[in-house]
Amino acid sequence: MILVSACLIGLNTRYDGKNNFHQVFCDMVKNKIAVPFCPEQAGGLATPRCPSEILGGDGTDVLDGNAKVITREGLDVTENFLKGAFETLKLAEIIGAKEAILKSKSPSCGSKCIYDGTFSKKLINGMGVTAAYLYQHNISVIDSDEYLKQRQRS
Ligand code: SF4
Repeated sequence: MILVSACLIGLNTRYDGKNNFHQVFCDMVKNKIAVPFCPEQAGGLATPRCPSEILGGDGTDVLDGNAKVITREGLDVTENFLKGAFETLKLAEIIGAKEAILKSKSPSCGSKCIYDGTFSKKLINGMGVTAAYLYQHNISVIDSDEYLKQRQRS
């Protein structure tokens, strides 16, 4: 079983109330090989919500207490992001997921790069909070853009 970011299958879980639908991911859920989830909603954040970025590092640094997650308006939502990560691992364990396909660049779900905390669309290498937490618990995290590129090549 695979975990997949909920916005990738068309659920309107994004901060702006929209989604990142792709048929490939939707079919995984229809075919019962994937389960959708949204860590930011699971962490208690509303939809729509103010966008957030990690300030002072990446998701691993947040888990270590060395960085925080802030909204564009400056509100500290680190606790929500941590709760979302913990809830996601709980779901992974319930369904026996060994892999997670996660939306690129998100401060929760990004697994290769994330925005740098300045809200200026600048990317840095690193994982989001949930991606880092799943990775630390031996779940393979797969970047959604990378997954689609590899699929096109094969
Ligand atoms: S937290 Fe993850 S699943 Fe939720 S909207 Fe953001 S990228 Fe999608």
